Amino acid sequence: MGETMTAEGSLLEVSGLGKHYDVRRGDGQQPAALHGVDLSAAPGELISVIGPSGAGKSTLLRCINRLIEPSAGTVRFDGEDITHLRRGKLRPVHRQIAMIFQNYNLVYRMTAIQNVLHGRLGYKGAVSGSLGLYSEDEKVRAFELLDEVGLGALAYRRADQLSGGQKQRVGIARALIQEPKIVLADEPIASLDPKSSRMVMEHLRRVSRQRGICCIVNLHQVDFALEFSDRIVGLHAGEKVFDGVPGSCTTEVIRDIYGNDEEVGLGLAPDAAAPGCVALASGPLIAHAEVL
Ligand code: ADP
Repeated sequence: MGETMTAEGSLLEVSGLGKHYDVRRGDGQQPAALHGVDLSAAPGELISVIGPSGAGKSTLLRCINRLIEPSAGTVRFDGEDITHLRRGKLRPVHRQIAMIFQNYNLVYRMTAIQNVLHGRLGYKGAVSGSLGLYSEDEKVRAFELLDEVGLGALAYRRADQLSGGQKQRVGIARALIQEPKIVLADEPIASLDPKSSRMVMEHLRRVSRQRGICCIVNLHQVDFALEFSDRIVGLHAGEKVFDGVPGSCTTEVIRDIYGNDEEVGLGLAPDAAAPGCVALASGPLIAHAEVL
């Protein structure tokens, strides 16, 4: 294990997190998607979560913001235990924990700026939200954020006319207009070419450095994780097997995290290779194999 962050100054404290989905394998067992995962994260930190397909990366992010319910453990956010917060009380939490998705989750018949403004819906009442009523300040802010991610000139272009990298940058602007304390990004570059991937990672790093927002990013591309993260967390078969700075994430550690596909143990086929990735003999998808 590498150096682990202390709980001091942390914004997020995940302890003993476990998740069993309500499905059984052919052998009747109910495998744990997550098992006793601890994680702390501080403001301004960029943490990459790496691991083979089925390791539990996506489940971890979704438990953190309670998109799915953890089966065990606790999630403390900004000093509050949110593990069992009732749905109705989650709204203010969801404003502060923004999400970025692999498939962008944009409304494609709407413009880039309208999609960014959707990030304000968590602040609206049911009526103003459904009517799409936004203040002038919100519109100016949406434009500024698009400009920051290099899309000012495309603010009024329909989302379905944007490239993948541009769509993901709209996703970043939509996350930022929420004024979040944490951004959770679930495989944000898995569908992008290497150049767009780099641009998206650079924007996420800027988000953490300049705004002090904590970014937790699920990644398949180990070389991007090594280059852009303050810390790397390695998951294997639902367990945290590494937590440390990129400098301590050695070739050996990476092999331990990925292991053999069979060792993942949850009966999963590996994901289709993302652009820029190669499948190594041992199974992991690692961009540019020279990191090994
Ligand atoms: P990763 O993001 O690392 O690929 P996931 O968190 O998606 O891993 O999946 C972890 C495990 O949980 C896998 O065995 C997967 O099949 C299982 N799983 C994920 N989502 C569901 C679901 N909605 N229902 C049942 N099992 C699921």
